[in-house]
Amino acid sequence: MSLKKNDIIELNIHGMTSEGSGVGRFNQQAVFVTNSAVGDQLRVRIIKPSKRYAVGKIEEIITPSKDRVTPDCECFYQCGGCTYRHISYQAELAVKEQRVVDALQRIGGFDKFTINPIVASDTRNCYRNKAQLPVGMSKDGEIIMGFYAYHSHRIINCDECKLQPAVFTRVIKVFRQWASKYKPVAYNEETHKGLLRHLYIRYGEVTKEVMVCLVINGSKIHGVEELAEMLRQVEGFKSLVINENRDKTNVILGENCKAVYGSGYIADILCGLKFNISPLSFFQVNPAQAEKLYSLAKSYADLHGDEVLLDLYCGTGTIGLSMADSIEKLIGVEIIPQAIENAKVNAKLNGIDNARFICADAAQAAKQLSEENTTPNVIIVDPPRKGCDQQLIETIAKMNPNKIVYVSCDPATLARDLQAFSQLGYKPKQITPVDMFPCTSHVETVVLMSRKEK
Ligand code: SAH
Repeated sequence: MSLKKNDIIELNIHGMTSEGSGVGRFNQQAVFVTNSAVGDQLRVRIIKPSKRYAVGKIEEIITPSKDRVTPDCECFYQCGGCTYRHISYQAELAVKEQRVVDALQRIGGFDKFTINPIVASDTRNCYRNKAQLPVGMSKDGEIIMGFYAYHSHRIINCDECKLQPAVFTRVIKVFRQWASKYKPVAYNEETHKGLLRHLYIRYGEVTKEVMVCLVINGSKIHGVEELAEMLRQVEGFKSLVINENRDKTNVILGENCKAVYGSGYIADILCGLKFNISPLSFFQVNPAQAEKLYSLAKSYADLHGDEVLLDLYCGTGTIGLSMADSIEKLIGVEIIPQAIENAKVNAKLNGIDNARFICADAAQAAKQLSEENTTPNVIIVDPPRKGCDQQLIETIAKMNPNKIVYVSCDPATLARDLQAFSQLGYKPKQITPVDMFPCTSHVETVVLMSRKEK
């Protein structure tokens, strides 16, 4: 008998989905339950039945999983930001490791492999150096600001997100004081009316510099000079920027930025290198874990000073630049022109003159380099979630590097791509998950591949 809406069932949770919902089985059907944990015995209300699976919501925890802890954030059950505050960090790490193992087995078809223990974060909280808070209006005209509820665009008021540094809470407090005086009209996504879309804050973990950016559906906002003045009481405040975004879109930032106070960027240090960060430039949001990830990638690359290193999907160049002093030549490839501009500036800022950056599709650039007989000794790939093109994988294999280091943000596409590399003779030698985003469902993995021994 299939499940119907509002049915109440008893369910044991035995696994987790990649998005962090618990999974149980009822009459051969999978039932997904958010905020549940492996080992939970639950009474569940069915909220979404379908032919192949059902989605349920916890009515009662009959017997809690041994992994459960009390969430240390009041917003946790409303907010869509964190997935794993109801289980211990150890349990969260185990879930993430298992996700990588499952993907390698089920999607990659690998049976004999070992993965190294996940690289844990020293802190589960305060690790983000960037916040983009949507601004809205309550029914009685008050500014609401914080995070979207899970799978929705309903804003949950939250000034003290556990993932952000304490200085962001101070910025938000000043911003609210200013907003209560100037009463800016918040943007409404449905009507495309209103002005203020997002409060966007960035922070240099090492330099302690703070940048505040207002994203607005227009070019001017009344009272910004006073906001800048008020923000000067926040330690480290360096710049206030207006970003203009008049598009009817989910994309947070528009293309135009104007500094109303300061230079329009802040600096930070990553792997001993200096980076300038503007509102539009990409920078790792958890720099402490990024350093661990990059140093792992570097140890896998095992550089001796004479290598040509190809860094594909290089973003603003950080991975390759962090290794530039240990190689002969660096070639970085990235599709977004602005990121490439940033990468060139970043190289210059650090006196690195053995780097070349190409703005192109990774597969096309690799093909071109291969045709020009460029023979990198080491190739690093760090693609977005969809992974690498098959054509790119073939070109990389043809270039015959000694080592390939794959940095992945999605275990499923990683597993698929590792299988494709394996068919072409490159076998995974080291596989290490890295927890870049504690409390969320994301997991990164660094893999070293080299040619199979004959
Ligand atoms: N390696 C960088 C960024 C990795 S994020 C770092 O560690 O900071 C993945 C990057 O791939 C993004 O910057 C994205 O713009 C870029 N990208 C996406 N599709 C691409 C393609 N087809 N070719 C080249 N780069 C691409």
